[in-house]
Amino acid sequence: MRFTTTLAMANDTIFGKILNGEIPCDEVYSDDLCLAFRDIAPTAPVHVLVIPRQPIESLRSAAASDQTLLGHLLLVAARVAKQEGLTDFRTVVNSGEAAGQTVFHLHVHMIGGRPLAWPPG
Ligand code: 5GP
Repeated sequence: MRFTTTLAMANDTIFGKILNGEIPCDEVYSDDLCLAFRDIAPTAPVHVLVIPRQPIESLRSAAASDQTLLGHLLLVAARVAKQEGLTDFRTVVNSGEAAGQTVFHLHVHMIGGRPLAWPPG
Protein backbone atom coordinates (compact mmCIF):
# COMPACT_ATOMS: atom_id res chain seq x y z
CA MET A 1 0.00 0.00 0.00
CA ARG A 2 1.28 3.44 -0.84
CA PHE A 3 1.09 5.96 2.02
CA THR A 4 -0.22 9.19 0.57
CA THR A 5 1.07 12.50 1.89
CA THR A 6 -0.56 15.74 0.95
CA LEU A 7 1.35 19.01 0.85
CA ALA A 8 -0.75 20.24 3.78
CA MET A 9 0.22 17.20 5.84
CA ALA A 10 3.89 17.63 4.99
CA ASN A 11 3.80 21.29 5.92
CA ASP A 12 2.50 20.23 9.32
CA THR A 13 5.82 18.57 10.11
CA ILE A 14 8.78 20.46 11.51
CA PHE A 15 10.59 19.91 8.21
CA GLY A 16 7.66 21.28 6.23
CA LYS A 17 7.91 24.40 8.37
CA ILE A 18 11.67 24.60 7.77
CA LEU A 19 11.08 24.28 4.01
CA ASN A 20 8.53 27.08 3.94
CA GLY A 21 10.68 29.33 6.13
CA GLU A 22 8.43 29.29 9.22
CA ILE A 23 11.23 27.73 11.29
CA PRO A 24 14.90 28.66 10.78
CA CYS A 25 17.64 26.14 10.11
CA ASP A 26 21.42 26.07 9.78
CA GLU A 27 21.52 25.39 6.04
CA VAL A 28 24.57 23.72 4.48
CA TYR A 29 23.24 23.01 0.96
CA SER A 30 20.17 23.81 -1.10
CA ASP A 31 18.94 23.15 -4.63
CA ASP A 32 15.66 22.78 -6.54
CA LEU A 33 15.08 19.27 -5.20
CA CYS A 34 16.33 19.30 -1.62
CA LEU A 35 17.61 21.15 1.41
CA ALA A 36 20.40 20.08 3.78
CA PHE A 37 20.79 21.56 7.26
CA ARG A 38 22.42 20.72 10.60
CA ASP A 39 20.48 18.54 13.01
CA ILE A 40 19.30 20.51 16.06
CA ALA A 41 20.44 17.69 18.39
CA PRO A 42 23.59 16.34 16.73
CA THR A 43 24.71 12.80 17.59
CA ALA A 44 28.22 13.43 16.22
CA PRO A 45 30.46 16.42 15.40
CA VAL A 46 28.83 16.51 11.95
CA HIS A 47 25.12 15.64 11.73
CA VAL A 48 23.29 16.93 8.70
CA LEU A 49 19.77 16.13 7.47
CA VAL A 50 19.03 16.06 3.73
CA ILE A 51 15.33 16.43 2.95
CA PRO A 52 13.40 16.50 -0.34
CA ARG A 53 11.38 19.63 -1.07
CA GLN A 54 8.66 17.28 -2.31
CA PRO A 55 6.72 15.88 0.65
CA ILE A 56 7.29 12.14 1.04
CA GLU A 57 6.25 10.75 4.43
CA SER A 58 8.92 8.08 4.62
CA LEU A 59 11.04 5.73 2.52
CA ARG A 60 8.28 3.14 2.97
CA SER A 61 5.91 5.41 1.06
CA ALA A 62 8.33 6.32 -1.75
CA ALA A 63 7.29 5.31 -5.27
CA ALA A 64 9.21 4.16 -8.32
CA SER A 65 8.78 7.70 -9.67
CA ASP A 66 10.88 8.95 -6.70
CA GLN A 67 13.94 6.98 -7.83
CA THR A 68 15.90 9.92 -9.23
CA LEU A 69 15.06 12.09 -6.22
CA LEU A 70 16.15 9.39 -3.74
CA GLY A 71 19.46 8.96 -5.57
CA HIS A 72 19.90 12.72 -5.53
CA LEU A 73 19.45 12.86 -1.75
CA LEU A 74 22.28 10.33 -1.29
CA LEU A 75 24.57 12.18 -3.69
CA VAL A 76 23.89 15.42 -1.83
CA ALA A 77 24.69 13.68 1.48
CA ALA A 78 28.06 12.62 0.02
CA ARG A 79 28.65 16.10 -1.37
CA VAL A 80 27.94 17.70 2.01
CA ALA A 81 30.22 15.16 3.74
CA LYS A 82 33.04 16.24 1.41
CA GLN A 83 32.17 19.89 2.02
CA GLU A 84 32.45 19.19 5.78
CA GLY A 85 35.89 17.58 5.30
CA LEU A 86 34.69 14.03 5.95
CA THR A 87 36.02 10.99 4.11
CA ASP A 88 34.15 8.55 6.37
CA PHE A 89 30.53 9.06 7.26
CA ARG A 90 27.25 7.22 7.76
CA THR A 91 23.92 7.79 6.03
CA VAL A 92 20.76 6.63 7.78
CA VAL A 93 17.09 6.73 6.80
CA ASN A 94 14.75 5.77 9.63
CA SER A 95 11.40 4.49 8.35
CA GLY A 96 8.58 4.23 10.87
CA GLU A 97 8.31 4.84 14.59
CA ALA A 98 9.78 1.53 15.71
CA ALA A 99 12.85 2.25 13.57
CA GLY A 100 13.36 5.64 15.22
CA GLN A 101 11.57 7.96 12.79
CA THR A 102 10.22 10.97 14.68
CA VAL A 103 9.66 13.43 11.82
CA PHE A 104 7.40 12.11 9.08
CA HIS A 105 8.98 13.91 6.17
CA LEU A 106 11.58 11.66 4.56
CA HIS A 107 15.15 12.61 5.49
CA VAL A 108 18.66 11.23 5.15
CA HIS A 109 20.89 11.62 8.21
CA MET A 110 24.56 12.19 7.31
CA ILE A 111 26.66 11.63 10.42
CA GLY A 112 30.43 11.76 10.89
CA GLY A 113 33.42 13.28 12.61
CA ARG A 114 33.87 10.48 15.15
CA PRO A 115 34.24 6.69 15.01
CA LEU A 116 30.80 5.12 14.51
CA ALA A 117 30.02 1.71 15.99
CA TRP A 118 28.09 -1.01 14.19
CA PRO A 119 25.47 -2.40 14.56
CA PRO A 120 23.37 0.57 15.68
CA GLY A 121 20.90 0.12 18.54
P1 5GP B 1 14.32 10.88 12.85
O1 5GP B 1 14.30 10.52 14.31
O2 5GP B 1 12.93 11.17 12.34
O3 5GP B 1 15.07 9.91 11.98
O4 5GP B 1 15.16 12.22 12.74
C1 5GP B 1 14.62 13.46 13.00
C2 5GP B 1 15.78 14.38 13.32
O5 5GP B 1 15.31 15.70 13.23
C3 5GP B 1 16.33 14.20 14.73
O6 5GP B 1 17.71 13.85 14.66
C4 5GP B 1 16.10 15.56 15.38
O7 5GP B 1 17.15 15.96 16.24
C5 5GP B 1 15.96 16.47 14.19
N1 5GP B 1 15.12 17.64 14.42
C6 5GP B 1 13.89 17.66 15.02
N2 5GP B 1 13.39 18.91 15.04
C7 5GP B 1 14.33 19.70 14.42
C8 5GP B 1 14.38 21.09 14.15
O8 5GP B 1 13.46 21.87 14.45
N3 5GP B 1 15.48 21.56 13.51
C9 5GP B 1 16.52 20.72 13.15
N4 5GP B 1 17.56 21.28 12.52
N5 5GP B 1 16.50 19.41 13.40
C10 5GP B 1 15.41 18.89 14.03
